[in-house]
Parts: sequence; C-alpha cells; structure tokens
Amino acid sequence: MSADVERVSITLDLDRDGVQHGFLNVPHSSDQSAWGAVRVPIACIKNGVGPTVLFTAGNHGDEYEGQIAVHKLVRELAADPGRLSGRVIALPALNAPAVSAGARTSPIDGGNMNRSFPGDRMGSVTKMIADCVYRRILPLADAVVDIHSGGRTLSFLPFAAIHDLPDADHKAKSLAAMKAFGAPYGLIMTELDSAGMFDTAVEDLGKIFVTTELAGGGTAGAETIAIADRGVRNILKHFDMLEGALDLPGDTRFMDMPEGGVHVADEPGLFEIVADLGTRVAAGDVLARIYPLHRTDRPAIEVRANIGGVVLQRHFPGLIKEGDCLAILAEDMA
Ligand SMILES: [Zn+2]
Repeated sequence: MSADVERVSITLDLDRDGVQHGFLNVPHSSDQSAWGAVRVPIACIKNGVGPTVLFTAGNHGDEYEGQIAVHKLVRELAADPGRLSGRVIALPALNAPAVSAGARTSPIDGGNMNRSFPGDRMGSVTKMIADCVYRRILPLADAVVDIHSGGRTLSFLPFAAIHDLPDADHKAKSLAAMKAFGAPYGLIMTELDSAGMFDTAVEDLGKIFVTTELAGGGTAGAETIAIADRGVRNILKHFDMLEGALDLPGDTRFMDMPEGGVHVADEPGLFEIVADLGTRVAAGDVLARIYPLHRTDRPAIEVRANIGGVVLQRHFPGLIKEGDCLAILAEDMA
C-alpha cells in the first residue's frame, strides 16, 4: 500500500458550510465482518466566518457527561445553524468501540485512546482513529474541548482543567477558555506521564485545550450533565461563535494537587469511604477503611490522609484492589 493512501475515510466535507452528519470509517476486518468497518460518528456544523472548535467525548467509553452534552449540542446547532459563527466539529464517541462496550478502552485492541496519540495510520483501530483525528481534523481546530469523567472506577469533584504550559500566551488563552467553561472547580495540571495523551498532542500544536473530569462511576447525573451542557455553550460564547453572556452559576474554585495527595490501596477488600468528595480532612484523618472480605476476626485497614486537603477524587466501586487509586486530596490554589 502506498504511504499516501488513507485507510480511514471521512464521510463528510469539513470545509463545507451547513450541517453534516457522518462517520470516520475505520476498516476493521474481523471474523464477524470480513470487509467490515468501525464507524466513529462525526458532525460538522459550519456557518459563515469564525473559529473552529472541536468537541470530543467518549475518549474513554464509560464517561458519559461529555457524550450526552455533545450529542445535545449537535442536535441544537443542527436545528438552527444560522446562530453559529464559525465551525463546530463534534466527535461524541471518539473511541467508538469502547463507547459501544461501555468501557474505558477498546474491546477490539485494548486501546486506551488517551495513550494512543499521535496515532498510526497503519496501526490498530484505536491508533488509526487517533491518527485520523491528529493529522486530518486537529489542523482545522483553533480550540479543543475533550470532556472526561471518572468512568466506572473513579469519581471526581466536577472540574475543568488545563496543563501548566511553558508558553505564557498559550497558557493565558487556555486558562481563559477553561474559566469560560464554568465548571465548579478548576485545575492547572502537571501530568506525570503525558506521552500519548490527546491533551499533549493538541497542546504541542499550540492550540487551546480544555479538559474536564465531571463526577464518574460509569454513569451521569443531572447536575454534572448540566455543567457539561453549560460548558460547551459557554465555550462557543467565549469564542464569539454564539451570542449571549456566559452562563456562570458561580466562581470557579481553583485547586492544586500537591505532592502526597494521591492515596493508593495497599490491600484488597471491601471499601468503606469515610471522607466523601468535597470533604476537608487534616493530615492523619481516616479517609477510608478496607475490610478483608472473608474474615471477621481481623481488623479493617485504616487509610489515613498523608496531608491535609479536600477530597477531589475517590475510588468508586464497593470493592478495591491493591494498587487502585483510592483518593486524591487537593488544596485551594494560593
Ligand atoms: Zn477519561
């Protein structure tokens, strides 16, 4: 195959004005479908002159606020595209096989989309999707909003985030977009392991990138869906692509993740959370207890806070395993 041949086809013309719905058609020959394809839904709504914002959700398939909010936004804009100035490209199910499975990663190749960038044209299904987005869609975008939640195993205080970018102008523009999103909490993150992340791929191109963690547990609630709904519309208002004032119910509370705030389970067992999300604890306070599942004659393990702070993240399921991230404590930004 020539190096120039695209394996993934995009079934719509991203330069055309109007409302288009289509797919990234990713070839996938399997026992179930010899000449089959994975279809990643994409919508493009373009009207007049203005910036391009790319909204992505379903980067992890078991995170729902973003998927719901992006589906809703597409339907709203499609019904009245004349309201928009510019172009919205929406990928509500970025890792479509993972979305179909209600799972974090793809059941086809095990691919974690957020570790698969910049992708590989000749790679697995997940890598082919990443490559198509990276090489053929990202260059069109001025800003990218990638909406995550905790998924089946984590839950978070609802926050929007950017990364601590080296370029001051890039960081200021990203921060302004993050504030406009209007989540109750805001973080400026430093990733420990940023290789392969969508975030890094977008930021390295000098584009504005806002991400979120909105609750979790493998479902979505009305309150956090409303945060995502407001957020995507606020982003379009921020870039003057929709008219109207930002819908901000309150100020964003800025938090840091200080060193020592991550707590990991040392033992498996039945998980008792003691300090719920948003609770302030002091160093040494009990965060959680872990009970051995099949013994009544042994004490529970008490997990105590390494530092003082506010519970930003917790392990979600009722059972916990050794090595699971149990809780993260954050602190108000100075
Ligand atoms: Zn995620």
